Amino acid sequence: MRIIGLTGGIGSGKSTVSAYLREKKIPVVDADSISRQLTAPGSSLLPAVRILLGDKVFREDGKLNRQAVADIIFNDKELLKSYEELITNETARRCLEELRQLDEQKRWKAAVLDAPLLFECGMQQYMDENWLVQADPETRIARVTARDGISREAICDRMQRQMSEEKKASLADVIIENSGSLEELYRQIDRQLERIGNEG
Ligand code: ADP
Repeated sequence: MRIIGLTGGIGSGKSTVSAYLREKKIPVVDADSISRQLTAPGSSLLPAVRILLGDKVFREDGKLNRQAVADIIFNDKELLKSYEELITNETARRCLEELRQLDEQKRWKAAVLDAPLLFECGMQQYMDENWLVQADPETRIARVTARDGISREAICDRMQRQMSEEKKASLADVIIENSGSLEELYRQIDRQLERIGNEG
């Protein structure tokens, strides 16, 4: 089974690619949803979060107060690093475990890891190939504005905090260019899937 890492900056169209792959019956492991599960009530990681950040980030009902977490970690670089490592490493471990289980089933020719932070977390090294979805910045801003209704400044700020597109491109094996129509996007994916199918 060929394992494909899929990533792209905010508004690039990564989720659109991911949805299309699912439509094509390709299993997709979603790193973001695994990461959210890790801090959901009852998660085995919460005690470690309590040790790192203290009781003040928990509500009375035991749920993690995400705003309190953000207030602390974004004002303390060391804590931010530790928190990211705690969540990121466990997310990566669980993603790889899910991919391993899919591989064991021997039912699929390919599986995808959808991970916004694929390169930032160094996960690309465990993939057979890595796809990067790109679109020009203005297109990305317009799409996110329409999708989320957040301000241009907020989007630009997030874009700037992400790894540069040049660096990402240097780590990718396949670049999916998504500044055009959805048809053009899907055609590129079909072509890649055909290649993988032909590789035997
Ligand atoms: P990401 O997951 O990379 O943040 P999305 O896949 O959610 O981005 O795409 C951002 C928005 O742009 C979504 O509303 C999506 O439907 C839309 N979109 C993505 N690609 C295209 C395209 N080629 N043409 C038109 N709209 C698109």
